Amino acid sequence: MPRVCIYPGSFDPLTHGHLSLINRGLKIFDALIVAVANNPDKVPLFSSQERMALIRGAVGQDARIEVDSFEGLLVDYAKRRGVHTVLRGLRAVSDFEFEFQLSNMNRRLDPHFDSVFVMTGEDYFYISARLVREVARFGGDVSTLVPPNVRDALERKRTEGVFRR
Ligand code: ADP
Repeated sequence: MPRVCIYPGSFDPLTHGHLSLINRGLKIFDALIVAVANNPDKVPLFSSQERMALIRGAVGQDARIEVDSFEGLLVDYAKRRGVHTVLRGLRAVSDFEFEFQLSNMNRRLDPHFDSVFVMTGEDYFYISARLVREVARFGGDVSTLVPPNVRDALERKRTEGVFRR
């Protein structure tokens, strides 16, 4: 049986931190479902379709990676997909508290559910999608933080003047 894991997140937009996690996840699992969370309460910079397209564009053709999106509870999505393990990244102690709560809540909702945490590499611990949006919004250089297709998409958003926080 291939070991499949869901890697959920906002990916608004995909960063080198996310890509590093995807690559490291593929060393542990046979296949990954990168699942873009659609939160109806948040207005993202990129629509979920755009976020999925940016992820696909950055990872290229790789049969081990599926890009999908979901709305609602992660545990329900995971059940629908028949997968009970998720991959999450830890950047700093501040991530830990939230992730600890989240993984325990998810296990309470589904006792079969488990989370696998991967520590970020030292080159990426400071990268967050929120900071990338902030830097790009003011025309800062994000080329070392995100893949080229995401950098171009951010630049288009900036020139279109559609940046939000
Ligand atoms: P969310 O904000 O909805 O949790 P993100 O898209 O920010 O989703 O992140 C998804 C997952 O990727 C989270 O587990 C997060 O900790 C992890 N992640 C994000 N950026 C990095 C990074 N630079 N290094 C390692 N993990 C990261």
